[in-house]
Amino acid sequence: MTSTREVQTLAQVLNDFRLNSFHAERLTQFIGDSDIIEGHIRTGMVQLIDAAIDLEELDQGDQVKRLQKSVPDFIDLEHKYSSQKETIQKIKQKSLQSGGTKDMIKDYEDEIHKEEDEYNSLSAKQKYGENEFMSEFKQAVWNVKHPNEEMPENEEVEEEDGGDDDDVIVSSTKRSLTCPLTTTWFEDPVTSYDCKHTFSKKPIVNMIRARHGIVQCPNPGCNKTWKMGCFFQDTLMERRVGRAKMIVEEAKNREFYDVE
Ligand SMILES: [Zn+2]
Repeated sequence: MTSTREVQTLAQVLNDFRLNSFHAERLTQFIGDSDIIEGHIRTGMVQLIDAAIDLEELDQGDQVKRLQKSVPDFIDLEHKYSSQKETIQKIKQKSLQSGGTKDMIKDYEDEIHKEEDEYNSLSAKQKYGENEFMSEFKQAVWNVKHPNEEMPENEEVEEEDGGDDDDVIVSSTKRSLTCPLTTTWFEDPVTSYDCKHTFSKKPIVNMIRARHGIVQCPNPGCNKTWKMGCFFQDTLMERRVGRAKMIVEEAKNREFYDVE
């Protein structure tokens, strides 16, 4: 008798449940967790590049190719987590509207499937060829044998299945190596999870502190905000700056000896 009443009560609770503003804060925490996972994925990407550089130095070209074939897996994984995060953000917005949202699971699944369909409809070139991590991988391996040269543009990437219609072409993504705030090389570069803009850590953190914890992104035209915890250590950019500095340094040394 009592148990029936309990079941009815539980059913009622479920029926009456609305995801509302009360829950929004917990969703924020979940978004923060996704950021941490994304950070780990990017760390894995950098370690993959380090391993590829070592193997290229040892003339293990086949092993490098095998590593390169796992790059799309990382890109897919990163996309999966960032689209999950965006979905949660959308649900959070919905929960803040009056009345909240009735069926969070359905909202989530609808949105995630929409995202997945969009991503799957992209060609390999769009998904991987234009990806920053893929071009960074190729550039890093290229620089082992061509230390002072930029990789030729439109370097073709072999397809896993021996090539179908859309060959993966790597377009080298040209990102500035200087911080817009200091106008010198990036130092300790940090990138926003949200808008993907990059700044040297010290000046942006100083700005955030000076403006009581939140500041509009200093990149011209960007309407996103920066606060502590909304950015990650951009190890890919750090590597890129390190390489550029080395090239400049070597060019200087050459000039010096040429003069003598
Ligand atoms: Zn921005």
